[in-house]
Parts: sequence; C-alpha cells; structure tokens
Amino acid sequence: MEYPFLSKNKIIETLKQHNANIRKSLGQNFLIDPNYIKKIVSYIKENIPEKSSILEIGPGLGAITFPLMPYYNLTLIEIDPVFYKILKDYLNPIIIYNMDILDYIDQFSLNEFSYVIGNLPYYITTDIIIKTLKTIKKPSICIFLVQKEYAEKLLEENNSISIYVHNFSRVSKCTNVPPNAFFPVPRVESMLIKIEVFEKPQSNPDILEKILRMSFRSKRKKILNSWQKGIELIPVSLLKEKANTISFDFTKRAEEISKELYYKLANLL
Ligand code: SAM
Repeated sequence: MEYPFLSKNKIIETLKQHNANIRKSLGQNFLIDPNYIKKIVSYIKENIPEKSSILEIGPGLGAITFPLMPYYNLTLIEIDPVFYKILKDYLNPIIIYNMDILDYIDQFSLNEFSYVIGNLPYYITTDIIIKTLKTIKKPSICIFLVQKEYAEKLLEENNSISIYVHNFSRVSKCTNVPPNAFFPVPRVESMLIKIEVFEKPQSNPDILEKILRMSFRSKRKKILNSWQKGIELIPVSLLKEKANTISFDFTKRAEEISKELYYKLANLL
C-alpha cells in the first residue's frame, strides 16, 4: 500500500467524508510532497536506530508515520479526533492517543522515550520543545519540523529561548522545507532540525529560566537595569553577589553575555 494522502483533493475528499475541515487553529499543514517526505524520513532513519520506540507529535494523516511504520515502534499523539479515527482505521494496529500533547506530557511525562519526532503545530512549538526537553529520557534525540524563522532563532547563541534550549541540548539544521511541500500552503518556510539532548543539563533549568526572564525583559537596557525592573524572581542582591564572582559584566545588555556565563551563574545559585 502507498501513502494515500499525497494530493490536496484526496485530503479534502477524506475530510468531507468525515464531515470535517482543516483546522488552521491547530496548525494543520500536511506534508504532500513525496520528495520532501522521503528526505525527512531519511534524516530520521539516519539518526534513530531501527526498531527503536519513537513518540510522534501531531501525526495528522500519517505523512511521516506511514513510511516509518515498518522500521520503528511508534506511539502517536494527535489532538484532532478526526485524524485519530482515520489513522486508527488505516494504520491498525498502532498505539495512538487522542490527546493534547501538552496534557499527555503532564500526565505521563516522556521519560520512556529516547526519540521524539514531529511536524510540530506552530502555535505551541515553544511549549512542546520546553516540556519535551524537561521530561524526555536523557540522552536522546528529537527531530522536529518547525517554522524556519523559529529554527534560526534556536540555532543562534544569544537569545533567551536558544540559551534555554542549549542548556539541555545541541541544535542543528537538517534541511529547509518550502511552503509548497504542504497543503494548505503555509505563508512561511520550514526547517527540519535535530535536537541532541545531553545526558544532563548544563545548569538547573528552573533557576536558569528565572535568570533569563529577568535578564531579557528589557533587552535594550543594561542587564542590571533589567534585573532591577519588575518582579525579583531571584533577589537582585543575590544575583549581583554571585555574578561578581565570575566575570559577568552588568553594564552589558542581556544578549551580549555568553550562554556559558548564564549557565555558570545559574550553577552558583
Ligand atoms: N504530521 C502531519 C504531516 O506532517 O503532514 C501533520 C502535521 S501538522 C503541521 C500538525 C499536527 O498536529 C496536526 O495533525 C494537528 O491536528 C496536530 N496537533 C495540533 N495541536 C496539537 C496538540 N496540542 N497535541 C497533539 N497534536 C496536535
């Protein structure tokens, strides 16, 4: 059997049969270009050993799931009951939960999985990545398709989300995916990224998060001014005292300070 949903018409017709529509609010853009599907599947196969257990977030109609099924034990989490039913019917037997991934992680955690993949719904990309990094078994690998602009931010070194994510992992680019590889065609390009999660984070994630929140709340100001403005998630006097013991320059802006110094400061706290 071939993957049955490679055309726009087939997707529309199938949804019609289920009295359903594409739900933009759920970030539903389905991969329909067989070459890009192949490319994504090869990246996954190059990075994840055969027969491994993989969690897939948002399988939709199964564009990535279907070609991976012969090689892996897949667990799927799909929020949309229509896709849940379609997948259950044509991919049977398969482990699939009709749930919000964020609730799934809250209830079950991801600590049984060393591999997580997904063409992520864009409206909760950050929440998914943060919750995954916190709860996934370590070390591990995630392969995610995300908006290109977002991926580029993660690949940089000096913004709060990249500093947070790099605390847990190494992020690298696999390939770009153009809008016309999807139906409906999104307005922006996408990028497939690999997140290699370390055995241990470099510093305590909760403390680091507080430091980053305080440091990046007024990005154009000197970092000390940013700390002093707003709620003291950590007492500023304590932050100053610890920062004074490492070469942390309060006169710089948050983005001018290296991520390593943030990790050092979090460790001192
Ligand atoms: N994997 C499919 C593909 O590549 O063609 C679909 C990807 S589409 C970008 C995102 C999928 O995530 C949709 O099927 C959507 O219904 C599902 N989704 C959206 N929000 C979700 C959530 N909170 N939990 C689980 N799945 C979600």
